[in-house]
Amino acid sequence: MCVPSTPQPPVIGRFAPSPTGPLHVGSLVAAVASYAMARRRGGLWLVRMEDLDTPRVVPGMADDILRTLECLGFDWDGDIMRQSRRAAAYGAALQRLLAAGHAYPCGCSRAEIARAATAPHDGDGEIPYPNLCRGGLLPGKEPRSFRVRVPAEPVEFTDLVMGLQRHDLAAICGDFVIKRADGLFAYQLAVVVDDEAQGVTQVVRGADLLSSTPRQIVLQRLLGFDTPAYAHVPLVTGPGGGKLSKRDNALSLAAGRDLTREGGMLLLAALRFLGQSPPAELAGSPGARVLQWAAGNFDPLAIPTAAAPFHVSP
Ligand code: GLU
Repeated sequence: MCVPSTPQPPVIGRFAPSPTGPLHVGSLVAAVASYAMARRRGGLWLVRMEDLDTPRVVPGMADDILRTLECLGFDWDGDIMRQSRRAAAYGAALQRLLAAGHAYPCGCSRAEIARAATAPHDGDGEIPYPNLCRGGLLPGKEPRSFRVRVPAEPVEFTDLVMGLQRHDLAAICGDFVIKRADGLFAYQLAVVVDDEAQGVTQVVRGADLLSSTPRQIVLQRLLGFDTPAYAHVPLVTGPGGGKLSKRDNALSLAAGRDLTREGGMLLLAALRFLGQSPPAELAGSPGARVLQWAAGNFDPLAIPTAAAPFHVSP
């Protein structure tokens, strides 16, 4: 018997580099994973330039990253979205959150927050906001930033790679900033507004952003947006297993390489890092050919969860 299969909605994936430095090994892994996981299901793969944090943006880097992607053989769908041109959309989302009482102005400085914090914090720099302005700006205070109210109950989601996640935002960060004291919109708000505007259904990115996901889910819920599927891929460590230094990172990708010639080798290394088994005959192939193999054969279930060093073998 021939039963017609239910049509699946198209996958829309994306890669969203920040032009604060050249494309590095960690972002190469995220690019390959997001590309393969979108294209394996005949989906679209978008590129978004996250040039929101203007003081950290390095002039020329956005073009440098796009050139590197091209040399490696990536082809993206549609136009590049640039966050630096999207302030009106972020402002509209902030206004909606304020009007619904989900967000509020905050007049606290970092020092005041640190002084007022009662709960012990773990030294990673994140202090749960002690709710000083939650019930209204404290007397004599001017609004500095805007915060969103986090729910009292933990946020749960299932990551396609890292499995079931449960994050108690009230204990981790409390009401977090969505517009900063320097007037810039926060990454968390911008990403949520952009993923919705671009119709993104699948977010594949590095595990360093796993702790951002529950914050983004909170914002999606408050703004009435769908939550995409999430897959966080393992981080690349330095050769000794520690944090990847800037030097290791830069050295192992663009620096001193002819990417048009060696791109295929780097992509094969990224695929092996992601637990895939590309066939030996792909050695020496151009990047576009390796990516074509990835689009046809990528197995998300094979992606490991543990951070590991990145090995390039010719
Ligand atoms: N722009 C972020 C980065 O380069 C990635 C954000 C995301 O994928 O959501 O780390």
